[in-house]
Amino acid sequence: MQISKIIKAVALALFGLAIPVAFYATMMAATNANASGPTASRQQEKSKMTQTTDQYSESGHNIARLSDDQIQTLAKDLTPEERKVILNEGTEAPFCGNLLDNKKDGVYHCRLCKLPLFGSDSKFKSGTGWPSFFTPVDPEHVGTESDNSLGMSRDEITCVRCSAHLGHVFPDGPKPTGLRFCVNSASLEFFEDGDTLPMAALPTKTQTAYFAGGCFWGIEDRYAKLDGVLDAVSGFQGGDDSVNPTYEDVCKGTTGHAESVKVVFDPDIVSYSELLSWFFRIHDPTQGDRQGPDVGTQYRSAIYTASDEQHNEAQAFIAAQQAEGRWASRLITTELRKAADSVFYLADPYHQDYYLRNGGTCAAPIYPED
Ligand SMILES: [Zn+2]
Repeated sequence: MQISKIIKAVALALFGLAIPVAFYATMMAATNANASGPTASRQQEKSKMTQTTDQYSESGHNIARLSDDQIQTLAKDLTPEERKVILNEGTEAPFCGNLLDNKKDGVYHCRLCKLPLFGSDSKFKSGTGWPSFFTPVDPEHVGTESDNSLGMSRDEITCVRCSAHLGHVFPDGPKPTGLRFCVNSASLEFFEDGDTLPMAALPTKTQTAYFAGGCFWGIEDRYAKLDGVLDAVSGFQGGDDSVNPTYEDVCKGTTGHAESVKVVFDPDIVSYSELLSWFFRIHDPTQGDRQGPDVGTQYRSAIYTASDEQHNEAQAFIAAQQAEGRWASRLITTELRKAADSVFYLADPYHQDYYLRNGGTCAAPIYPED
């Protein structure tokens, strides 16, 4: 691990702070004539735990595990047969389920929590007597657990959000997966294409943004605290063609990657423009290949844009800040590149949610709003 992160980790262990605030403040004052002290914001008061318990699948659905109380509330709508299958890992009699012969186009959702699980385009006739699919609609929506009951060794499948028992998966399915997801009709609710879906069945409308502004522990932590930010994860971006660079590779400076943070956000709650403003408040974009005590190309300031709209907005934002913003007196060194040309690689679990898991918070100042 790089020296500055070792210092932060040790300081965190000893003092509950990322690095001693006085030490960091001295470093910032030496490098930034405009540095002002930390300013508490309402966002800072917001519990980060709220953010990180939300997890979003690739298809944009909230797949955070429901509480036992929430599950029991939903279960009040179940019939006795459904309860037996869904909550007590039961199996309905073969050739009796109401969805076995359903041939309509649509999506099969979790009967209990409405998470979409299987599409009609992956349903096939297996002859087993239960609805069978060769793949979930989103692999992150279906979990598996070893099941050694009834003298057999099988893989049970469950809904990841509510743990509803669905059935089992077997390695004897058709191409392209070779898998057979054997599901009880009682565990499913079918919505035909064109049907109005309940809220719990819909994905959250999200967008993605990428920001590199020094040590990703702090940038991730500060974005995660913003209202409207659904997820923030640390990684590496903007380097050479190295695939899945390690932290050690990046620290050597030979791959050219920056420590970057992927931010998934709900644009109805927080706009990209607000994320840009926040970015220039939580780091100093004029320091070139450093950020405070962290020195090296991986600590450079960079914005990687996920769309042409983001690119144009970020370009205009940097130009405006250079002309008359807080940083106008010095050259803004923020790199602006398209994310499509700058693959984001997730960093090791050790670097994710670092401050949440270890306590403390980033000691770098938060600059006041203009
Ligand atoms: Zn469910």
